Amino acid sequence: MARLLLNSKKHKDYIFEGCSTCDAKCCSSNIIYSTIYDLKEASALFPILFYVADGKISPVYFFYYGETVGEKCPHLNGTMCSVYENRPYACRSYPFSFEQGNPCFDDGCPKISISKNSGVSLLDAKKKLNPYFISNFVGKEFTEQKEEIFTSTGRFVDFCVKNNFLVPYVNYYANNALYLNFKPSLSEQLYIIHPQRIAVMRMQNKELFLGHDDFLQYIMMISASHKNIETLFALKEAKI
Ligand code: SF4
Ligand code: SF4
Repeated sequence: MARLLLNSKKHKDYIFEGCSTCDAKCCSSNIIYSTIYDLKEASALFPILFYVADGKISPVYFFYYGETVGEKCPHLNGTMCSVYENRPYACRSYPFSFEQGNPCFDDGCPKISISKNSGVSLLDAKKKLNPYFISNFVGKEFTEQKEEIFTSTGRFVDFCVKNNFLVPYVNYYANNALYLNFKPSLSEQLYIIHPQRIAVMRMQNKELFLGHDDFLQYIMMISASHKNIETLFALKEAKI
């Protein structure tokens, strides 16, 4: 699956046929890019980690551990999302997203294609993302605030890196072989917020979060989300 920038020429004949005949293919991904916009919902359901790729570090959440292709999200019940009302933003907006503020779609969605079947065109008459998808997927609120959301997310990540809050995931769980099984092929690229380190640094520097109350909140949400790694294991094992 790849995220493609929506292109007014290349994608002028693309349509979306709708989800009704799909068996929730999008719930079998494994790594989802997050922003501060959906940290609250996402951190209640999934472990939030940090992923380093192409010199860029991003907050992400994970659906599952291991390497099995086609493995489904543990919150999926048949083809229904069991946390639908509280599902994270990326789930709500999928197959649409933004990259540096520009609309994208995921070509892994089987219902987006050049097709003679009926569906909704990805582009409107002005060659922009069809407002239908803004109303039903992306959300007007997100669209209006997207510059601020991406900028603030970047500032938050920079703050974590600058203050040395992140440790390699494999080190954090080094004594637990089960956790090391969590997406081993990505182990070098995954980082985790280290709550104890932050607690010690806060004791040493009482002004660490001065003017950054929002960052402190995000860190608390992310730290709390780490227990969701255990929940994901439990959910998965209950289904085996
Ligand atoms: S968004 Fe795409 S992949 Fe997800 S359920 Fe709908 S059609 Fe299927
Ligand atoms: S939270 Fe729900 S919508 Fe999101 S991947 Fe899991 S089952 Fe699918």
